[in-house]
Amino acid sequence: MTDPLRPQPGIMDIALYVSGQAQIEGRDEVLKLSSNENHYGCSDKAREAYLRAAVNLHRYPNTDHAPLRRAIGEVHRLDPDRIICGVGSDEVLQFIAQAYAGPGDEVITTEHGFSMYPILAHAVGATPVTVAEKERRIDVDLILRAVSDRTRIVFIANPANPTGTMLDEAELERLAGGLPEHVVLVLDGAYAEFANGFDGGASLVDAYPNVVMTRTFSKIHGLGGLRIGWGYARREVIDVLNRIRQPFNLSEGQMAAAEAAVRDVDFTRRCRDENARWRDWLRQQLVQMGVDCDESHANFVLARFADAKRAEDCDKVLKDNGILVRKVAGYGLPNCLRITVGDESACRRVIHAIGTFKGVR
Ligand SMILES: *Cc1c(COP(=O)(O)O)cnc(C)c1O
Repeated sequence: MTDPLRPQPGIMDIALYVSGQAQIEGRDEVLKLSSNENHYGCSDKAREAYLRAAVNLHRYPNTDHAPLRRAIGEVHRLDPDRIICGVGSDEVLQFIAQAYAGPGDEVITTEHGFSMYPILAHAVGATPVTVAEKERRIDVDLILRAVSDRTRIVFIANPANPTGTMLDEAELERLAGGLPEHVVLVLDGAYAEFANGFDGGASLVDAYPNVVMTRTFSKIHGLGGLRIGWGYARREVIDVLNRIRQPFNLSEGQMAAAEAAVRDVDFTRRCRDENARWRDWLRQQLVQMGVDCDESHANFVLARFADAKRAEDCDKVLKDNGILVRKVAGYGLPNCLRITVGDESACRRVIHAIGTFKGVR
């Protein structure tokens, strides 16, 4: 018998999101490098601000997020009136999907793109269209060729997850300039801070009316557990997104911690510098051992093995050593493992463990 309660179109097409593994059976201590979290934790100032907010738990939070938007605006030199905050950047991405796509519309994502994008498209009844990449790189021409009258949104992450590759500013500009006006280009900048000198696409938001940038506190700010992110767009677009945002989507604790985190620019800079140093070391060591690895612009590297079997076997060796990394077969990369960049000792442990794996060559 069919269920008389029928969910909206698209919902049953959603494949549930799979998050990075957090535990290894029979082990208390694991080195978790599976979710691109900040190995250094978060700013002490963020933790203190969060605790201070606890005295007012009986009060409803403010609904306009003004102090947090002002802090983000100051640090990133952006107009606070063109910023929206959400429960993770995932919520901001959801607002965009809800506001601009629906049944009959197409949403473009790419071959190895972030798995939330098709989920968001299905959730609003739209059809995700997956465009091929070239050697794990987003290809602007292939995206432009896939655009139709029904295309409403193009989602790309720059730097991309799980490949770590990125489009340079000229290519991004070519994409923004090549899209028709009725298509929203979403530049997901979850890893923007890790890319040397990259503004996440903010300048493109200023130059093109249909470009939206999203950012998160989950990665460089080390606040994945807090659930907070933000978006930057033209004022009219922010107005649209705010209409579907729940007024109390963020608690005072979230906002206070995030404000302290974004203002702690020394902590952010130290995390960026350490990440760049050990990311490049990790890649160099992998390549020396015979494991392929593209240059990464994020806080992880993608280790590429000769085949899926070797990637699986290496994952087992890492697990035997108490190290959790991310299998990415679901992203069309069955021969790869995504490894979050930790601190020096974490990176050395990874390299040591892979060094004991006999199947590399
Ligand atoms: C981690 C990540 C995010 C951030 O999600 P939050 O909801 O802000 O935690 C967004 N996009 C990509 C590509 C990511 O990898």
